[in-house]
Amino acid sequence: MVHLGMSGSLRVMPAATPPFVHDHVDIVLDNGQCLRYNDPRRFGSFHWVLGDNHDLLRHLGPEPLSDEFTGGALYQRSRGRKIAVKSFLMDGKVVVGVGNIYANEALFMAGIRPDRAAGRISAARYTTLVSSVQAVLAGAIDKGGTTLRDYVGGDGKPGYFAQQLRVYGRDGLLCRQCTTVLKAIRQNNRATVFCPTCQR
Ligand SMILES: [Zn+2]
Repeated sequence: MVHLGMSGSLRVMPAATPPFVHDHVDIVLDNGQCLRYNDPRRFGSFHWVLGDNHDLLRHLGPEPLSDEFTGGALYQRSRGRKIAVKSFLMDGKVVVGVGNIYANEALFMAGIRPDRAAGRISAARYTTLVSSVQAVLAGAIDKGGTTLRDYVGGDGKPGYFAQQLRVYGRDGLLCRQCTTVLKAIRQNNRATVFCPTCQR
């Protein structure tokens, strides 16, 4: 099991390629290629795992593109919770893999204010939110991810989803849907941007 930490990346390349700065691990493949791990900040980690019951996985929620990620499950899990819906959506115990950028975008697409209490959102709106998360992630995967600084995919190329962001990184600019000025707030020390008109 490989944890990429904040800045780790895996790339496929010929095994004979000399290591560059911050290259730490090669997993050499039978075909002469290797899977090379690069990590400038060294927050990543490698674990030898037998079975799927590792401590780091045991308490994780479902994958967002799986059948277990449903509006009904989010609704049940959120009852009585005062936590903001964006923080709820980014909690790995609720669902994995929805980072800050995609949480911002999915909440915009679903028309839900990021600071609304998770426990006050209806089952119908959670169903919409699940569809929005899946649409945003599918779109981002299709574009190779969101390159903000130096991220590259397994093929060494940057992602192009940044050009399609509707709210993230656009605070002070006009909403593309209604031309209201987008508003920025901080939640858990992360940037949140939303449209006060389109998101309720
Ligand atoms: Zn708007």
